[in-house]
Amino acid sequence: MAELHRPERGLLREVQQLDRYAKQISFGPIGLQGQARLAEARVLIVGVGALGSHSATSLVRAGVGHIDLVDRDIVELGNLQRQVLFDEEDAKQGRPKADAAAERLASFNSSCQVRAMVEDLDRWSIREIQTLPDLIIDGTDNFATRYLINDFAQSKGIPWIYAGGVGASGRAMAILPGESACLRCLLPQAAPAGELASCETDGILEPLIAQLSAFQVTECLKILSGNRDKVARGILTVDVWENEYELKLRGLSPSADCPACARQEYPALKDEPIRSMSLCGRDGVQIKPPAGASIDLGRLAARIASIVENLEEGPHLLRFTAEQCRFHVFPGGRALVMGTSEEARARSLYDRYVGIS
Ligand SMILES: [Zn+2]
Repeated sequence: MAELHRPERGLLREVQQLDRYAKQISFGPIGLQGQARLAEARVLIVGVGALGSHSATSLVRAGVGHIDLVDRDIVELGNLQRQVLFDEEDAKQGRPKADAAAERLASFNSSCQVRAMVEDLDRWSIREIQTLPDLIIDGTDNFATRYLINDFAQSKGIPWIYAGGVGASGRAMAILPGESACLRCLLPQAAPAGELASCETDGILEPLIAQLSAFQVTECLKILSGNRDKVARGILTVDVWENEYELKLRGLSPSADCPACARQEYPALKDEPIRSMSLCGRDGVQIKPPAGASIDLGRLAARIASIVENLEEGPHLLRFTAEQCRFHVFPGGRALVMGTSEEARARSLYDRYVGIS
């Protein structure tokens, strides 16, 4: 992880911080003690798209001292309607979201230490998280990653806040290992591909994201400030278009049939990473190299320079165009192939131009 900012120290800083957080400290249940706890806390945000952008913004402004961001994607124009951390220049440059988000967040609160990891979270990359967080925020758009967060969090005893939505409706829940139901208790298996509504088919409204993020941030502040007894013990379901706001309070104890809660088995920590996956709501596919494979971006650039177009080589990203598709290749060999949503075509183009699968 690249470290972008270290907090300053000293009395002057403490006085400034009291002023900065005065309205939050005046709120009795948080107070000075809660604010001090927030300053010491570490939150991992998985995915800084719509939900992750909103929640990261609020947590940094609230004074959470350490924020780690993980995101696999790059900024595009179609993100700007709801992904509040990014601007047109980020989209024009196609910047990795984690890097662009970390830079923007550091400008909101220079006392917050923000670290960025441009990576797809899987059973291997999750091990690169060096310092365990106090809490995890779900900013993902897929159930494979949510089950991974769930099993990682359950195995380490870390609370996390699930949220997801499409169109105008969504739901969110605080998951406290050992105390409440986990994601596997509620949804033992993800629905087969194609059966779930997606933001690709149903769109997504920014105000829904703001609602779900408000829940995530509030529950996060309760837990981190020492007010765990106030955590919402239920699933929030919201439809901002149909005016439905409900906190369902049933089925919230850990299930006796749940592999994670009842038997301490964590299937997602054993799953092989998915090699190719079309990107939600986008004309693109992510391809990962086989486990153990690696690639040197400089050598790849030299090898393909004469057969591709618009080759751009940066320290952490190689881009080029081939057969009407735009490739973004990250260190290690993970690639986003934009311009097709067909996984088979993307895999075949990847084999042809990147060539390590
Ligand atoms: Zn469970």
